[in-house]
Amino acid sequence: MMQIPFHRAHITDDEINGVVDSLRKGWITMGEKTVEFEKEFAAYTGGKHAVAMNSCTASLHLALKVIGIKEGDEVIVPAMTFAATSETVLYFNAKPVFADVCPDTHLILPEEIEKKKTSKTRAIMPVHYAGQPADLEEIRSVSGGSIPIIEDAAHALPSYYRGKIIGSEGDIICFSFYATKTVTTGEGGMAVTANEDWAERMRRLRLHGISSDAWKRYTGAGTWKYDVTEVGYKYNTTDLNAALGLAQLMKADDMRWARERIADRYNRAFKEFDGILPYRIKDDRVTSWHLYPLRLDIDNLTISRDEFIEEMKSRGIATSVHFIPLHHFTYYRNFGMRAEDFPNAEWIFDRVVSLPIYPDMNEAEADYVIENVIDIVKKRRR
Ligand SMILES: *Cc1c(COP(=O)(O)O)cnc(C)c1O
Repeated sequence: MMQIPFHRAHITDDEINGVVDSLRKGWITMGEKTVEFEKEFAAYTGGKHAVAMNSCTASLHLALKVIGIKEGDEVIVPAMTFAATSETVLYFNAKPVFADVCPDTHLILPEEIEKKKTSKTRAIMPVHYAGQPADLEEIRSVSGGSIPIIEDAAHALPSYYRGKIIGSEGDIICFSFYATKTVTTGEGGMAVTANEDWAERMRRLRLHGISSDAWKRYTGAGTWKYDVTEVGYKYNTTDLNAALGLAQLMKADDMRWARERIADRYNRAFKEFDGILPYRIKDDRVTSWHLYPLRLDIDNLTISRDEFIEEMKSRGIATSVHFIPLHHFTYYRNFGMRAEDFPNAEWIFDRVVSLPIYPDMNEAEADYVIENVIDIVKKRRR
């Protein structure tokens, strides 16, 4: 029996040599390699400024901080996302306001944002689910240009909206380099913005609120003097992580192509297949294929999503679920979220499974996943 993990990072000699080079240089925390990574990242995503941090969560937090989120403000987030999106709003004692998602694309619904918008709405945080960009044009039109849009682009490197790469337009776009993401540094994140003041402030805030090139104080180029202008955080990345990121970024396109080849295989096998519901990608979007969402037509099957996952596991295939809607968690239930307010998120959650998809997966492994999905579904049709 084959054993197929849910994810395996694509690490080659390029990454290893990059990290070794950083170790040999003797400067291993934030320094020149981080600056280089930021430059390359800005060039790749077409953003003006890129600010590296130790997680996407940190970058979402500082993004909300620099646009001025305060206690009592409201920020609209999708009901179906990772906890990080919403928790960063709660850091401010601001209120996350949840909007339901589209049953076909799993993306936040612009009409739901419109419904949830109040005079206290200070930001909208769309998530580019699985790598598919959210309906940015419609969301911008709901925001009327006066409510900043902070994009949770943790899945979207690289993704394209109407021909433009995610990062090249918008207020602040936050990427993740977590271990399972499309480009990884182990842990890490990046905030991209065209706004120089916001970028400069995020640079200070990520390192205790001290002047942005403070790391130079330990090199010949710097001085030991620095000022603290406000309360900051310990959110900086390290040159070890940046070295990994530089090597990964060089192959971001190749890795996307490798994932697309697997997605094409899955798509062909599952197209119009009785028992599987299609996941829709809109014509004007290109997904990064960070995730491959499979949707089980459980109304016409005798197997639940949970049982399907167990059955796949018994056949050596690891899968996952993105995401458990926030209202399923104790904290958010106590927060007053109710399942009946998010029928689409609930509907998706009953049906969705993320299949393994990563560059190092070979065709035989993809075919093994396909055979088993098809075998289970066929046996469990009503
Ligand atoms: C992974 C993820 C994050 C958090 O990224 P970190 O780098 O781990 O902080 C945020 N939002 C979404 C949608 C994610 O999938």
